[in-house]
Amino acid sequence: MQTALPASLDRPPFTLRARLLTPLPDGQTRFLTDALIEVDREGRLARVEDWAPTGAPAPAAIDIRPLVVMPGLIDLHAHLPQWPNAGLGAGLDLLTWLDRYIFPLEREFHADAANRLAPLFFRALAAAGTTTAVLYGAVYEDSVDASFAAAEEHGVRLVMGKVMMDRLRYDHALSDSDVLEQSLAQSLRLIERWHGRDAGRLQYAVTPRFAVSCSADMLRESADLARATGSYWQTHLSEDRSEIEEVHRLFPESGDYTDVYDRAGALGPKTIVAHAVHLSERELGRLVETQTRIAHCPSSNLFLSSGAMPLSRYLEAGAVVGLGSDVAGGPDLNLFTEMRAGAYTQSGRHTMLGDERPTLKPLDWLRIGTLDGARALGLDGVIGSLEQGKEADFICIDPEVTAPVPSEQMDDAEEITSRLIYRTRPQMVRCAWVRGRRLAA
Ligand SMILES: [Zn+2]
Repeated sequence: MQTALPASLDRPPFTLRARLLTPLPDGQTRFLTDALIEVDREGRLARVEDWAPTGAPAPAAIDIRPLVVMPGLIDLHAHLPQWPNAGLGAGLDLLTWLDRYIFPLEREFHADAANRLAPLFFRALAAAGTTTAVLYGAVYEDSVDASFAAAEEHGVRLVMGKVMMDRLRYDHALSDSDVLEQSLAQSLRLIERWHGRDAGRLQYAVTPRFAVSCSADMLRESADLARATGSYWQTHLSEDRSEIEEVHRLFPESGDYTDVYDRAGALGPKTIVAHAVHLSERELGRLVETQTRIAHCPSSNLFLSSGAMPLSRYLEAGAVVGLGSDVAGGPDLNLFTEMRAGAYTQSGRHTMLGDERPTLKPLDWLRIGTLDGARALGLDGVIGSLEQGKEADFICIDPEVTAPVPSEQMDDAEEITSRLIYRTRPQMVRCAWVRGRRLAA
């Protein structure tokens, strides 16, 4: 039976005494078995240091050892309205799955549905240890409004956008000739209401779904809107073979799938493309050159038989890659299980495809799910690791529940992380905070 954490940890300021595990910007990992973590009134990390008895009086701290404090996880890609159908349709190809399981759900996702679902979704994120999420809504302005309002209330850090589609679309209330103009106007209103809200905790991503459901005009104008307003721009890229063929058919003037977005002026450091499974060297080079961010969604890629992304090759080329659950293409919001799917994918590439590049270690996966995710959002100076001056977005973990034998000694950072990834347990995340404010889970 786990004891509850005291209510004095619900709001800043507070000081914790705990074990601490965090990636650092220099590529190292910091692991302290006895750390002081002080969160100031503004929700920043005022001190992160070894408790190290120096003879000075110990600060008043709440001792939660042997729990481990680590940065909150960052989910770069998921679809809020799709959550109810998570786990359905394994092995279907992308376009069939969208038609059968996804568009019927999104078509009904108006404000009332968002009011019901979004609070539960944000609690599930916090319960899984995710403190920042980058989401797609449905096409409706009112449901994205309702979702942002729920996030404002909950406390999660959120980037989100209304999906834009002007062909292969499910919203038939508008005529084809009106949909582009309406979609841009709705996106702009949402940006004005939500982008930068609560000192930047809530941000907007202009969200054309993918090239199959967007005209060249929509892609170009959406990229212009993102640039003009300082918003993010997100879409899907090169997920499965039939989708890629369809993009070639729809955009014969483009040399490859990445070129479709390039011609729209959409690549760049505030752009996040999900999947990017089947990139040519040219496409990869272009993403790296433009500093476009990649959301790697390995569970989804396995679930929908999309392919096995060559992550090591991308990292070697200098790509900025974070993790995405891609719910409902991925069955679960948990990023620890996402790391496991990613590791198994790399292992499969090694044994079945003869990929000789080195595979990632558990601490590498933790970095991808935290600090690299922050880097993908241009927020690595703000969140993603536990360092003095950063905002206090973190989680505390009870690694003991992942041990196969109770009360086994767990005092090695690599081993603790390995068990979190390979023996994920629902109760292992004990608490999540954003800016020192405890999230309901
Ligand atoms: Zn997706």
